[in-house]
Amino acid sequence: MASAGRASLATGWVRMVFAFDLQQHPHPGLPLEGEGEKRGARCDRICMTTESIFRCGIAAILGRPNVGKSTLLNALVGERVSIVTPRPHTTRHRVLGVVTREAGQILYLDTPGMHSQAKRAMNRSLNRAVHTAVAEADVAVQVIEAGRWDDEDEAVYAAMAGAPMPRLLALNKLDRVREKSPLLPFVEQLCSRHEFDEVFWLSAQRGEGIAELEQGILQRLPQREPAFDAETFTDRSERFLCAELIREQLMRQLGEELPYATTVEVESFKDRDDGLSEIAAVIWVEREGQKKIVIGTGGERLKKIGSAARRNIEELLGRRVFLRLWVKVREGWSDDEAALKRFGYE
Ligand code: GDP
Repeated sequence: MASAGRASLATGWVRMVFAFDLQQHPHPGLPLEGEGEKRGARCDRICMTTESIFRCGIAAILGRPNVGKSTLLNALVGERVSIVTPRPHTTRHRVLGVVTREAGQILYLDTPGMHSQAKRAMNRSLNRAVHTAVAEADVAVQVIEAGRWDDEDEAVYAAMAGAPMPRLLALNKLDRVREKSPLLPFVEQLCSRHEFDEVFWLSAQRGEGIAELEQGILQRLPQREPAFDAETFTDRSERFLCAELIREQLMRQLGEELPYATTVEVESFKDRDDGLSEIAAVIWVEREGQKKIVIGTGGERLKKIGSAARRNIEELLGRRVFLRLWVKVREGWSDDEAALKRFGYE
């Protein structure tokens, strides 16, 4: 029953937005430069339905690898809770980003991209995380690249399609699309075959469309007390965030050379009396040859990775950091369930 109701709402809503925009500009439904004011019409509708009650719940950010989920999460939360690199499959852990507004609190889950071939233990672990996120969520946001919908997008949709929560579609990387008109038939066709409650147009990288998406999520959350105090922006430990920032640099600086099975473990984290934080971390790889790649000639590469990561960690923690990095080999860790648990995979 609920799902049938949503089907009509979904198409009705999409049509309504298009109808409104048709009168506004030549690219109906699409935000143009400086269109914030005009699009306020959609906001009015949302504000009118937002009573003086407090809402709180989980919004799962779903999507195939590389559509911009981590970039979007960071834009929504306003802090670097998730690492961003141009390489697919970057996000391996679920991250809870917390945003508190007057009207409510949104708990964001960033999920790893779905893997269509879950052959190895790590891929199985990623797929489990996606399904758990869907089961926990109050609202699901499926992120896609504007103008593109492939088998992997379909697999993500299928993973959430059976669940009863509202589903939002976020078309990201709008800045990359020169000719925007073909996006309208694209979305109309997509929504005729899939049930989405509302469609959003974004450029996560430029921070465009973020406030609208936040409103769309907030108004669909259940009425509930806040789960965290207003200053909290993540439930992850500083240790975890530091390991992620080191992993981000590994990916950025090694690019295609980086073995997929590389992970970072923060072994010790001490706040010293002189205001400095002392952090020791291990970069785990699977083979001796990979260790050489990460260290580089004369240790140059590891040094660069370390200093870039240290700068980002200092920015995150708001204090000076002394970072020590080691590279160690553990054969076959990514196919070993016990090692995965130790490195924080569920
Ligand atoms: P994820 O794998 O889905 O989490 O994707 P990421 O957030 O790691 O982003 C993948 C790549 O897409 C990175 O190079 C981002 O900088 C880029 N990206 C993300 N959002 C946008 C956007 O709005 N516009 C453009 N042009 N690139 C984006």
